[in-house]
Amino acid sequence: MTLGGKQAVVTGSNSGIGLGIARELARAGANVVLNSFTDREEDHALAEAISNEFQVEVRYIQADMSKGNECRALIEKSGQCDILVNNAGIQHVAPLEDFPEEKWDAIIAINLSSAFHTTAAALPKMKAAGWGRIINIASAHGLTASPFKSAYVAAKHGVVGLTKTTALETAEEAITCNAICPGYVLTPLVEAQIPDTMEKYQMSREDVIKKVMLERQPSREFATVEQLGGSTVFFCSDAAAQITGTTLSVDGGWTAL
Ligand code: NAD
Repeated sequence: MTLGGKQAVVTGSNSGIGLGIARELARAGANVVLNSFTDREEDHALAEAISNEFQVEVRYIQADMSKGNECRALIEKSGQCDILVNNAGIQHVAPLEDFPEEKWDAIIAINLSSAFHTTAAALPKMKAAGWGRIINIASAHGLTASPFKSAYVAAKHGVVGLTKTTALETAEEAITCNAICPGYVLTPLVEAQIPDTMEKYQMSREDVIKKVMLERQPSREFATVEQLGGSTVFFCSDAAAQITGTTLSVDGGWTAL
C-alpha cells in the first residue's frame, strides 16, 4: 500500500486517534499536515519526529477548529489536500437540562461544523486533482446514543449525515467520503472521563474501564489508534474506491448489540 505523492490533512492530530491516523498515513507514504489549536514547540517537534521516522514531509499547522474561518484557512495553508481526515473532537458529559450552553456550542462547532468548513474548502482541490478521500471520525455515538452526552451524540449523528451528503455530491468524481465509528479507544479524551466516573460510582479505575466503559463493547477491549489508522488507510486504497457514503464501525461489536 503506498500513498506516495498524496498529502493528508488530519484535524486534531497532536494526540490520540488523530495522531495515530497521521502516523499510519505517513507509514503508508503520504505527506501529512498535523493540526491542533495550540502552537507549542512540541507540536512542531512531533511533526519533525514523524517525518524522520517515515521519511515523508510532515508539517504542523495551528488552527482552531471551533472557528469556521480557521478551518478553511487550515486547508488553504496546507496546499495540496488529497486526503482529509476530520478528527478534531471534544466531549462534555451532563444531564440535558444542566448542559452548559457554551459546551453545547463548542461541541457542535468542533465535532460537526469544522467538518463542513474543511470539506467545503477541500473539495475544489480534490476535484482539480481528480482524486480525493474524506474520512470523518464519527463514533459509535453517531449510530446510537447514551444518556448525558446530548451534544456529542447530536454532533456525531450530524457527522454521519454530512458524510452521506458529501458522498452523494461527489459520487461522480473520484472522491469518496466515509465515516469511521469507533467504540471506546483509550486516548486522553477517554482518560479524562475516568476520575469522575470512579467518583460517581465509587469504583476502582479497573472496574470503571471494564464494568462501565467497556460494558457496551462486547469484545471488552479498547480499540487502538493503530487500528483506526489502518481503517483510514484502507479507505484511501484502491480497494475502497467504490465505498462511499457509509460508516465503518470499529467498536468491538457495540452497535451489533
Ligand atoms: P483527544 O482528546 O486525544 O484528541 C482530540 C484532538 O482534537 C487533539 O489533538 C486536540 O488537540 C484536538 N482539538 C480539540 N479541540 C480542538 C480545536 N478547537 N481545534 C483543533 N483541534 C482541537 O481525543 P480522541 O479520543 O483522540 O478523539 C479524536 C476523535 O475521535 C474525536 O472526534 C472523538 O469524538 C472521536 N472518538 C473518540 C473515541 C474514544 O473512545 N477516544 C471514540 C469515538 C470517537
